[in-house]
Amino acid sequence: TIYFIDGQFTEKDGVKISIDDRGYYFGDGVYEVIKVYNGELYTAEEHMTRLFQSASKIKLAIPHTERQLIEIAEELVKKNEIDTGHVYMQVTRGATQRLHHFPETNVSPVVTAYAILNPRPLTNLKDGVATKTVDDIRWLRCDIKSLNLLGNVMAKQEAHEAECAEAIFVRDGIVMEGSSSNMFGVKGGVVYTHPATNLILNGITRRVVMQLCADLGIQVEEKEFTTEEAFEMDEFIMTSTTAEVTPVISIDGKQIGSGAPGPITMKLQEAFAKQLPLAVIG
Ligand code: PMP
Repeated sequence: TIYFIDGQFTEKDGVKISIDDRGYYFGDGVYEVIKVYNGELYTAEEHMTRLFQSASKIKLAIPHTERQLIEIAEELVKKNEIDTGHVYMQVTRGATQRLHHFPETNVSPVVTAYAILNPRPLTNLKDGVATKTVDDIRWLRCDIKSLNLLGNVMAKQEAHEAECAEAIFVRDGIVMEGSSSNMFGVKGGVVYTHPATNLILNGITRRVVMQLCADLGIQVEEKEFTTEEAFEMDEFIMTSTTAEVTPVISIDGKQIGSGAPGPITMKLQEAFAKQLPLAVIG
């Protein structure tokens, strides 16, 4: 695998990261995951815009333009001959002596990235997945796609131990999002999802799905709903760059709707697949 680090493309063995990198000490950085279909980056501009927004929210100045980072991502896809997969890119505040406050001298942010093969989750898309609710113990800036993912890691592990594919964060009884996805409920033909506040990450896939609802004439509302209301939904969906439009067929062992992917979920899956680069089949 060819990696990108600090302005250079190199084999993994050639990657040198300082032990003093603030990403390593503090999780002081931001990242993105961009899906690749048929060798083409999908919604790359949206991801790069969000990367710069996340960086700006933590007062990190990325020493590149959005276009330059997209070109690096494209180069990685080419060099690694990625057909279906994703690009991971992260930017940390750089390496200095371990002090919490920002470095005062000219310390450069460190950009690292790679491209990797990753097939579409076809089994999950067809059969749906089980999920588990967990307490949302994260901080109040979940809108930032930060490298600090301990809350998300703990939640995913709890779901994993319960043989569930995803954890659903619940804060004060309200369904927020998944540990690495956004959540949608469908009731009476209306699609509901948590508003894009500081308490969730506004997923790129979430935005695509909301646009697809609008295009298909399906009513979609950014409105809070409780765990109890979630159990009573006709359909439930989780979305992310890698999960796409995945049906959720159970929450905490309780079956949602018929226990199989519902009609609106399948309609959205179909519309989603249709707008992928070069109309990906299967
Ligand atoms: N919420 C969280 C906490 C996430 O980590 C992710 C995945 N990056 C998402 C939502 C979904 O975002 P996207 O559709 O942009 O991948």
